[in-house]
Amino acid sequence: MTHILPGATIGILGGGQLARMLALAGARLGLKTHIYSPVADDPAFDVCAAQTRAEFLDEAALRAFAQSVDVITYEFENVPARTAEVLEELRPVRPNPKILALTQDRLVEKQFIRRIGATTADFFDVNDLPSFTKAVETLGYPSILKTRRFGYDGKGQSKVTQHADLSKIFNDLGTTCCILEKFVPFSKEVSVIATRSIDGAFSAYDLCENLHENHILKTTHVPARIKQETAQKAFQIAEDIANATNYVGVFAVEMFIVSKQQEEIVIVNEIAPRVHNSGHWTLDGATTSQFEQHMRAVAGWPLGSTLRLGSNITMNNLIGSEADDWLKIMEEKGAMLHLYGKKETRPGRKMGHYTKIAP
Ligand code: ADP
Ligand code: MG
Repeated sequence: MTHILPGATIGILGGGQLARMLALAGARLGLKTHIYSPVADDPAFDVCAAQTRAEFLDEAALRAFAQSVDVITYEFENVPARTAEVLEELRPVRPNPKILALTQDRLVEKQFIRRIGATTADFFDVNDLPSFTKAVETLGYPSILKTRRFGYDGKGQSKVTQHADLSKIFNDLGTTCCILEKFVPFSKEVSVIATRSIDGAFSAYDLCENLHENHILKTTHVPARIKQETAQKAFQIAEDIANATNYVGVFAVEMFIVSKQQEEIVIVNEIAPRVHNSGHWTLDGATTSQFEQHMRAVAGWPLGSTLRLGSNITMNNLIGSEADDWLKIMEEKGAMLHLYGKKETRPGRKMGHYTKIAP
């Protein structure tokens, strides 16, 4: 049997706000969640039926966790390969962990995206100062040096401009395992939030238009203000990615749109094998939220409708102390507020978001 029944338990690796919103969506459908995270005060621990606080390489804890759940998923892409291996022996892990190897390493990810026929920024593998210098000479300015692994919210990246001290930039990155990417002069950043079910059905929400501040998502506007045919291209790329990886669950594909005269070119930036910040508007603005959709897919259930419930929808992230304004936002007519229950406010930390829907 590939599907589980209401009352069953879904294990989630990671305990951040994404896991929290997955657990809440699961509860609505009668599913229990068991959160596994090494971080003691993670926000998902407040809303789950069972919890394990242990390291991701604690094999005894992983086995006990697997035995207590029916199926396992994850809220972040940096799940260690060994963790997935231990869990897979005992329970289905969805999406299948092959996607982790593809998305944990920017070099492997970009090679994969090109293999399926989509476009990425030009890039070079960089391992030392000579290969960095050579890559800069070839790609020109500006370009962006990125660590191959563990980057998020712009961490592990450095913009390379003319007259920059290459040796300093390279040494400051803290690892020699990186790539240099050509800077993409995009007119817009967009993302596809899509889902593939266990029987291969593909479904996508309206394209999201994303605005970043200090490399952190600030605002998502739906639908993205681009041509219909460009959106179609973006959806096709997402479907190709899902089919090529036999994916099950929700995932996001971040893309740049470059406008050249009348043409809009789609360039894939990165893939997130999980629910995504730019899909938070679906909690209030779509028939089925991305969190419910992911739980449905992981449970082996049919996917829900992705119908958008308004002509224009805006989602604003509350980053760091911005969340101190929660009362003011709550009083705003039509603002739908979500707070993640994080105990400590830190600069750059995602504390909550709110959504507004134009009827
Ligand atoms: P992260 O894992 O931190 O999200 P990204 O590669 O998505 O890493 O980079 C974060 C942001 O930096 C992007 O959303 C985009 O705004 C900007 N950026 C990244 N790569 C490029 C590029 N090659 N050209 C232009 N902007 C970029
Ligand atoms: Mg990104």
